[in-house]
Amino acid sequence: MSEVELPLSRAYACRYGLPVLTHVDPDIFRERYFARCMECAFCHDACCQYGVDVDVENVARIEACADELERAIGVPRAEWFTGEECDDADVPGGRLARTSVRGRGCVFLAASGRGCLLHRFALETGRDYHDLKPMISSLFPLTFGEGLLMGSIEVDERELICLDQGATLYRGVRDELAYYFGDAFVAELDAIEARTLAESPPT
Ligand code: SF4
Repeated sequence: MSEVELPLSRAYACRYGLPVLTHVDPDIFRERYFARCMECAFCHDACCQYGVDVDVENVARIEACADELERAIGVPRAEWFTGEECDDADVPGGRLARTSVRGRGCVFLAASGRGCLLHRFALETGRDYHDLKPMISSLFPLTFGEGLLMGSIEVDERELICLDQGATLYRGVRDELAYYFGDAFVAELDAIEARTLAESPPT
């Protein structure tokens, strides 16, 4: 993460009310990663290996289709979440749960093959995947905290194995940012991106 936090012209609230973003780390316009995740032949879904935080409103949406989802993924609902929750003022509902880890990673990671079973289940049943897949997963490798949009810790600590190639962090998830925070938000980020790259092009 850079030491610079660029202020936005106004606060942008997520479509769920939280988080509310007020600043952006300009490194998201310079750092690169593979981005076309389902075309990657070398990561083996490593970014899903530890599970993920999921807000309690998202948990409720998952549980609302539990019967169908349980049959589709073959994992009992009692094994989906760790059962531990914590307060987090940045997320919808103000509390975070966490997906369990089993096998090669997150309980919702396909046991063989590629990808997220929540995402697949949503597509196969005519749902919007955003309603089920955690926002933190959809925005990865970007994340947020205390109003700041920034790279995830895996970027900061250089642990993301597909860094330094492909699209920038911002370009890789620009459509997801538009979904959660709106077109005006990405329009402002586009302008900040242009200024940032004019002043300091990516290496
Ligand atoms: S919810 Fe899906 S995308 Fe997120 S960590 Fe689990 S398997 Fe990966």
